[in-house]
Amino acid sequence: MMKVPNCCLGIALAVCVSAILNPGWAVQSQVVTSSIIVGATVIDGSGRPAFQANVRVEGDRISEVGSFKPRPGEEVIDASGMVLAPGFIDIHNHSTEGLAITPAAPTQVSQGITTLAVGADGESPWPLSDYLAKLAKQRVAVNVLSFVGHATVRERVMGDDWNRAATPKEIAAMAKLVEQGMNQGAVGLSTGLEYDVGLKSTTEEVIELAKIAAKQGGIYMSHVRDEADQVMTAFEEAIRIGREARIPVQISHIKLGTVGVWGQSGRAVAMVDAARSKGIDVTADCYPYDAWHSTITVLIPSRRHDNPIAVKRGLDDVGGAENILITDCAAHRDFEGKTLEAIAKGKGITPVEAYRLIVKDRGAGIVCRSMTQADIKTFYQQPWVMVASDGGIGAHHPRGAGTFPKVLGRFAREQHWFSLEEAVRKMTSMPAARLGLKDRGLIREGMKADLVIFDPKRIIDRSTFKEPELISEGVLRVLVNGEPVWITGKITGLLPGAVIRRT
Ligand SMILES: [Zn+2]
Repeated sequence: MMKVPNCCLGIALAVCVSAILNPGWAVQSQVVTSSIIVGATVIDGSGRPAFQANVRVEGDRISEVGSFKPRPGEEVIDASGMVLAPGFIDIHNHSTEGLAITPAAPTQVSQGITTLAVGADGESPWPLSDYLAKLAKQRVAVNVLSFVGHATVRERVMGDDWNRAATPKEIAAMAKLVEQGMNQGAVGLSTGLEYDVGLKSTTEEVIELAKIAAKQGGIYMSHVRDEADQVMTAFEEAIRIGREARIPVQISHIKLGTVGVWGQSGRAVAMVDAARSKGIDVTADCYPYDAWHSTITVLIPSRRHDNPIAVKRGLDDVGGAENILITDCAAHRDFEGKTLEAIAKGKGITPVEAYRLIVKDRGAGIVCRSMTQADIKTFYQQPWVMVASDGGIGAHHPRGAGTFPKVLGRFAREQHWFSLEEAVRKMTSMPAARLGLKDRGLIREGMKADLVIFDPKRIIDRSTFKEPELISEGVLRVLVNGEPVWITGKITGLLPGAVIRRT
């Protein structure tokens, strides 16, 4: 068998795939050592204004940016009228298992995602080294990083007995596991304090664990303890953890998820701004939808699922049972795709009774429409808020396939929330800096060639709550480490993604 280095094989295949799938892209020779993207408007990820330049890719790196001519025999990709940007980096992605099943990740690369981080919300693969090694062996289309999850280590130490505060001894044991995860390459500690396993942990417990991640240069990323009426207290807790553990804080999918706190984004922004002005490094990410996807039990923060008053209050807080769509319910497949309101009507019971029935029968996944556009806009317009999907392969929410094109098409182009350059910055250099990626997230000589070519006039999401995996439009070509993974509507089948361990 002939031994061919991966990058060369990639380029050779790229020429072949490019010629077959899209004869419009000029291919000048079969003997290719590098490629050059010509005619594009470069948005380099830094936030600076777009400019015209050619970009040369050699191996897995960007070797030149400027005005120069193709070399004889070089592959020429004509991107006239298109935008060339760094590949998008998704700091909160749930493709942990999906990557093993669908390594070419079409719903991800079709959005322009070239790097994603798993292990969010307190849940990470374990042992992390095994997961990363397996992924590296199997190969995937995108670059992958991981956090170490608080709930993951909590369960390993406390077993099923996690519905209480941990003892000092247990916290010490968890700290050892966080250290192990960090040593195996995690980029930081994630928590999901609103979820069952994390809910009873004290702030002090989290601070102790965050200190371990801080010592190793990691960040603290949190699905905060409450995204409803107590959300401000939850943001305060995240800021306190950052201050006391001396660690950068990333608030995951920042949102105001109940009627009682709608319209208070200004207050949340002021709180984060105040922390930042005191030197606490707080940032956030946001997905571009007014509905979240989670487990049905998070509707009742007190977890008093048998208490009709508590349940009624929980349903009212999100604007009523018609805002709650059941996406997956193992015990009642016929409920899937229906709102809690419709299920109750169909059975001749109240929504509260329908809720209790579902929870008694092992619960369900839900999509809940309970945020306002105005709050989403306020958050997105902050310079410290980046774009992340909270989606991933096989998501039951349109954010899984539509997040990045939606922000570019609807919020930047159509609604002028911010410039295209700022939108791209929020998807590239900003998450790269957060994840400690020094050679990704910008179009610069020497950086890794993670690149996306998109049509700025056409880019748009198509995924919906009914069809969450509909592929977005307008992303023409995506390169990961110099190799094309997506060309005009099709995956190439190449799997050039790198497993990235924090060093
Ligand atoms: Zn979350």
